[in-house]
Amino acid sequence: MNRDILSMTLDELINEFAECSIPKFRAKQVYEWLHRHLASDYDEMTNLPKQLRNELAEKFPIYSCKIAKKQVSKLDNTVKYLFELHDGDFVESVVMKYKYGNTICVSSQVGCKMGCAFCASTLGGFKRCLLPGEILSQLYCAQKDLGERISRIVLMGMGEPLDNFDNVMRFLELITAENGLNISMRNISLSTCGVVPKINELLERRLQLTLSISLHAPSDELRSKIMPINKKYPVDELLKTCRRYAAETSRRISFEYAMLSGVNDSDECARLLASKLKGMLCHVNLIPVNEVAESPFKPSSPDRVQRFVDILEKSGINATVRRKLGSDIDASCGQLRLKENKAKEKGDE
Ligand code: SAH
Repeated sequence: MNRDILSMTLDELINEFAECSIPKFRAKQVYEWLHRHLASDYDEMTNLPKQLRNELAEKFPIYSCKIAKKQVSKLDNTVKYLFELHDGDFVESVVMKYKYGNTICVSSQVGCKMGCAFCASTLGGFKRCLLPGEILSQLYCAQKDLGERISRIVLMGMGEPLDNFDNVMRFLELITAENGLNISMRNISLSTCGVVPKINELLERRLQLTLSISLHAPSDELRSKIMPINKKYPVDELLKTCRRYAAETSRRISFEYAMLSGVNDSDECARLLASKLKGMLCHVNLIPVNEVAESPFKPSSPDRVQRFVDILEKSGINATVRRKLGSDIDASCGQLRLKENKAKEKGDE
């Protein structure tokens, strides 16, 4: 059976190679080629005999992604990639360039099941979960293409990371491993729409990453309208879990709040949000919603956003407005795949 080598730990690789009577030092070499030198093909592994390279290519395929499309923002150098996976599916990643280094936003699934009303990933439909190596490969490909180190990761691309829990945990293990790129767990954020039992499972692991919660509304009435997951795990239950998470990990939780004009941006919403977050180790990230052609939501005006921030801050809740990057290149995740699929459909007609 063919085994996806990019998702294996070094120990697993050593065992797999042993079963094929390939010596241990070869496993270490291959692991380094994959995770240090970011090789995407056995032919790059020049210190391996040609015959071994052929054998490995047959037994252990490298499911790395290929750049299908790349767009660079003229406004802020944000780079958006559309990657093609080994089976022809597409995912998106975005690299944001900050003074302190490069951050990549990676996808965890092809499409998404969560059904949030404002999100393009949902519109494209759910296809499948990504393998750990396919999540890694987005970063590896981008870093190789840019020729610059990527030091921060946000799991905020397409898909719900906690709906692909085991593969995402393996991805975290591999990307923070000393014999790989060794990215600090503190430089990683994981964003979820609020899958409560999985947040509890994450808590058990006591990781030093930043947990982001896509809250977007302070009441069940409103949140259930725009985020179906809320019907399963309502606001108060989610926030109780968050309180426990923050208290037990001493890690500040980041709440994402997309400002939808006339929907969730009233003074009343701000006051209710402030009262619900009171006393929690947290931060609110306000994001003027990115307009998605197929959805009716419009971003709140800058004045409205500022007023919302003021109310939160007056109540002692830390809040910032996220800078909008890459607005000229469909940098809101899901948008490119949607376009690509539509183009494909048109081509098929
Ligand atoms: N499924 C995860 C991570 C992917 S989405 C989650 O829900 O957190 C990453 C973030 O972008 C989430 O906060 C999501 O709610 C937000 N988002 C989705 N569509 C958006 C849009 N059109 N404008 C602004 N933010 C959006």
